Parts: sequence; C-alpha cells; structure tokens
Amino acid sequence: MDHVEFRVKAKEMVDYIADYLEGVGARRVYPAVQPGYLHALLPRAAPAQPEPWDRIMRDVDDVIMPGLVHWQSPHMHAYFPALTSYPSIMGDFLSSALNVLCFTWASSPAGTELETIAMNWLGKILGLPECFLNEQNDSLGGGVIQTTASEATLVSLLAARTRTLTELSQLNPEEQSAALLAHLVCYCSDQAHSSVEKAGLIGLVRMRYIESDENQSMRGEKLEEAIISDKAKGLVPFWVCATLGTTGSVAFDNLREVAVVCQKYGAWLHIDAAYAGSAFVCPEFRHWMDGMEMADSFAFNPSKWLMVSFDCTAMWVKDSTALHRTFNVNPIYLRHENSGKAIDYMHWQIPLSRRFRALKLWFVLRNYGVSGLQQHIRKGVKLAKEFQALVESDVRFEVPQNSNLSLVVFRLKGDNALTERLLRRLNARGHMHAVPACFKDTYVIRFTVTSQRTTSQDILVDWEEIKLVASEILVETFG
Ligand code: PLP
Repeated sequence: MDHVEFRVKAKEMVDYIADYLEGVGARRVYPAVQPGYLHALLPRAAPAQPEPWDRIMRDVDDVIMPGLVHWQSPHMHAYFPALTSYPSIMGDFLSSALNVLCFTWASSPAGTELETIAMNWLGKILGLPECFLNEQNDSLGGGVIQTTASEATLVSLLAARTRTLTELSQLNPEEQSAALLAHLVCYCSDQAHSSVEKAGLIGLVRMRYIESDENQSMRGEKLEEAIISDKAKGLVPFWVCATLGTTGSVAFDNLREVAVVCQKYGAWLHIDAAYAGSAFVCPEFRHWMDGMEMADSFAFNPSKWLMVSFDCTAMWVKDSTALHRTFNVNPIYLRHENSGKAIDYMHWQIPLSRRFRALKLWFVLRNYGVSGLQQHIRKGVKLAKEFQALVESDVRFEVPQNSNLSLVVFRLKGDNALTERLLRRLNARGHMHAVPACFKDTYVIRFTVTSQRTTSQDILVDWEEIKLVASEILVETFG
C-alpha cells in the first residue's frame, strides 16, 4: 500500500469504524461460532502474492466479524468494561503511525514527558496524594503506563521483593538470595483477582489469602492475625495487595485498616483498583480511597471503564527507586547523555520497548475533560441501579450479594442449576452477554453496565430478554 492508496483506504476505514460503533448495538453481541470455525474459513498459509485491500476487508466482514464478541455493544454485560472512544482510537491510530518506542527519554523525549504529564494529570483528577506525582526534578514518586493490571501487580511485588531481599541480605550477608526468598510471605484477600496469585507464582513467594468479611472486604484485624502468625514461624511479611473493587462484586478492602497494618509491619502496600479506579474521577466515590497516602503503589485500568482503548494501566509509585533497583540494567547502547535528568521508563517495567500510549490517554483526558469523564461514570452507575430495581421488582429473582458501581449480581431464586441454565441460554441466544460469579456456593449472574452508549431503553430490552428466557426455563422445570 502506497501513500496514495493509504489516503483513500484509511478514510474508508474511518467510515467503517464509525459505522461499526454506531451500529454495534444491533449486532448479536455473543457470536454463534464453534472452536475452529476460522480455520475452516481461511487458507492454511499466507498468500504468496499481495492481495488487494478490498478483498482483505471483505474477509473482515465475512469471517472476522461473525466470530467477535462485541465488547462495545450496549448489550455487553460480561466481565468488566473494555471501552474505547473516538479520541482514544485517534490516539492509537497516530501512535501506530509514529511508532516511536519510549523506553528512555532519549528514545522519545515527547513520548516520555507526555507520559509523565498525563499521569500527573490523571493522578490529580483522581485526587491522589502528591507523593505519587512527579512534578519536580527530585520527585521520587510518579506514574507509569503498564500494559495490564496483572503486570502492575507483578511489578509492584517484584519491587517490594527486591526491597526486602536487599534489607535481609544486609542483615544476613552470608545467606544467598534464594535462601532468603524462602522466608518471604505476602497477602491478599480471598476475593483478590487471580492475577495476584499469578504474581506470587512468578515471584516465587508464598501467598496468604485473608478471609474477607460478609461484605467481601479484607479487614485489618484478620490481616494482622495472619502476619503475627507468620512472623512467629520466622517468615517475613513483605507485600500486601489490597483490592478496591473486587472482580466478583466490586467490594472494597478496608484500605485504612489494611494500610495501618502494613505500616506497622513494614510491608509494601499495593492497591489493585483495576476496574473501580475509574470511578475515583468522581469525588463521591473517593471515600473508598481513604488511607491511600499510606500505600506504596496503586494501579487501575483506564482501559476498562475510562474509555482509553486497551492497553492502558495507570500505575503510580511513591518511590520509584525500588523499581529502578529491580529493573535497572544499563548497557551502553541504552545510555544517553541525559540519563538521570529525566525518567527512563524502561527502569519502571519488565519489557524494554514500550508504545506511545500516553497519546491516547492525553487525547481522552483533553477531549472529555474531567466533567465528561465524571458524567460517563455516573451514567453507568445510574443505569446499574435502574437494572437492579427491575430485578428486585420481580419476585422470581433475587440480588443475593451487594455490589457497587456499575455491577449488579442477580439470580433466579432456588437451585443454582436454574441460574446456570438461564445464563447459558441467554449467551447462546446472543442478544446480551454476561458471565457468572459464585459467592460461597451461590451461583449468580454478573451484569455490568459496560458501554457508554448503553441507554435506559437498552437496559429494559435486556431485562425483557432475561425475563423471557427465565419464564421458559421455569416452565420447562416446574411446568
Ligand atoms: N484486578 C482486578 C480487580 C480485575 O478485576 C482484573 C480484571 O478484570 C484484573 C486485576 C486483571 O486485569 P488485567 O487484564 O489488566 O491484567
């Protein structure tokens, strides 16, 4: 494709994208395909000769689109949102064209500095304590864009591990790091996301799961009991992950209680707010952040609810030297004469290369403004409340577990099997899509209001679909 063809075809692509997003609500949200469907439709090898662009796009329509889950659909209620928006798409478009790598300041000064600035802006929008911002040359704290919340959690765990191993090896100079590692222990709630468990597996440290209370919240007392018991066994508690907005029910750990315990025992406190962090753009939801100033790192995904296309995980640390110590390698080909005068983000992450993701974040922050972002979050929360009211108005259903923000969990009263059948059939029909969760053996459907295009009318349409399928299942079961 040359410049001339690109000018034509890229403009057509813009129309294709706008048509898609405008009409996505009319598509079947969950595809009717089986594993292997695409293998049967595409050749087994790449074409030997160039193919015309229009033929490629025809295949997008004919074979790719029918196999997609349409995450931007107003009828997509599964998982958590993964929203995009026009300013974000334009940011990704431009970033792909520039294709600069922002691993050091020298490799892309604007890419690096825009990331620092956009992360400061976002941190201020969320009301983060100043210690997480990077506004002065000597600031220790700052924000970085990671690929995923899983990666942010791992980065945080590895940094805390390095910090503790360094301290331990100063106290026990004769011990090998591997021997010291065997003493480390870290903690999260039994409601924490599986990515926390994975970070522990990769970090080769033992993980304790603290039993959450009746609101699915980790409390300081239970955490402290576990820490005291582990210390008595000669273990070294070094890292705690608190969740703000659990995956199952958007529950919040009691951050202040947990933070006080972490400070008392010198453990690094990481906060995983992958989904719920977006809500902190609204002051009325910031009570869940109480205690934030005591945390060491905090991450959430603007790529979930804040309409910045995947990938974009915003992570802030209070003291980036812990990251430097963990990830610092310094080969001659990466050194530059301004080393040390600006951030080199390669020292804040696992890979070397990194995309210019700050561009799409900056576009979204500017094009929506704080008020636009707040409006979007509040609308999602309001629609979830409307859905919950509909569920509660029907005696056949129940909401067995409190949830927060834009998530509602509900089920048919009676055996789990009824709700399981309801969800299976809803997804098979494909007009709406949701996934399950389980609370102490109670099977529920998680209904998240995802798209910014979802309206009250869409919620009513989905509710009618749910009621229709529920009626079928109840008649089939009980006659
Ligand atoms: N943490 C929580 C609380 C989540 O809900 C999720 C995913 O939904 C994750 C972490 C993992 O996010 P990511 O896919 O960005 O790694």
